[in-house]
Amino acid sequence: MPKALNFKQELTAAFGSPIAENPTQVMIEAAYRDLGLDWRYLTIEVAKDALADAVRGARAMGFRGFNCTMPHKVAVIEHLDGLGESASAMGAVNCVVRRGDELIGENTDGKGFLDAVRSFGDPRGKRVVVFGAGGAARAITVELALAGAMSFVVVNRSEARGSELVRLLVDRVKVDARFVLLRKDYEVPDATDIVVNATPVGLFPDADARLALDVSTLKAGMIVADVIPNPPRTRLVRDAEERGCEVIDGLAMLVNQGVIGVKHWTGILPDPAVMRKALEDVFAG
Ligand code: NDP
Repeated sequence: MPKALNFKQELTAAFGSPIAENPTQVMIEAAYRDLGLDWRYLTIEVAKDALADAVRGARAMGFRGFNCTMPHKVAVIEHLDGLGESASAMGAVNCVVRRGDELIGENTDGKGFLDAVRSFGDPRGKRVVVFGAGGAARAITVELALAGAMSFVVVNRSEARGSELVRLLVDRVKVDARFVLLRKDYEVPDATDIVVNATPVGLFPDADARLALDVSTLKAGMIVADVIPNPPRTRLVRDAEERGCEVIDGLAMLVNQGVIGVKHWTGILPDPAVMRKALEDVFAG
């Protein structure tokens, strides 16, 4: 019997604005190729007021799912049929998954981070210091809290956003959290287990920018994580390595959340090494 031919690709995408510099397509399509899947991941500019039409279009065309980035992570929720636990606690969605006829919103940013932390051990009972209180900080702290981390210090430039994140952690996720205003170089308390930069400090082209952190207070054995994917070897990553810390770079987080996205859409676990290599190649170029 001749095999039936199939010229139809399965579709996934990123919706955002601006989106042109988002490199996610490179790593996701590398994973699809590696898995032998004839799937596509399209990088699509979707203006703020066009989101409803874009989601309707994705439904009509049977997309398997799509990522949402700025400015759609919160706005997309009203166009979906349901939310996963972390997306619901965070009030933000970065990964939409088609399950049957429904589009379900998930948040994989923090889960990708959590997978990287787990490679060093169980986050249960850990004490965390996080710099920043925006979307990345929210995703990371909520996920760590759901995984059993014990306490959080949110160090942020503005009081309003910092306190809002602390309220979310205390009231909705029921963990111990306090706010510290970022003024001069922050001294990390001795009893800290995990330190996270969740601000844009160090992002290309300001690769040498320095986080307001007293690096002499970083101790060997602490886990130090930076969300900056480009360049991955930030000043904080280098300082932390010199001081004997366990280091997680921003590429690890980006790749891990991509791994979870591909698993959600295809049901198959892709190879993170293939995805990381694809990103390293474009950043090196
Ligand atoms: P937001 O704009 O939502 O939040 C940024 C946070 O950083 C705010 O709390 C802001 O403080 C603080 N901040 C900004 N500039 C400075 C500065 N110069 N010094 C100190 N604090 C500062 O951004 P996101 O949370 O969405 O993203 C933050 C970073 O995380 C981005 O660089 C992004 O690339 C990265 N990211 C990486 C991911 C990955 O997979 N590796 C995934 C998601 C994000 P204030 O409240 O005072 O404005």
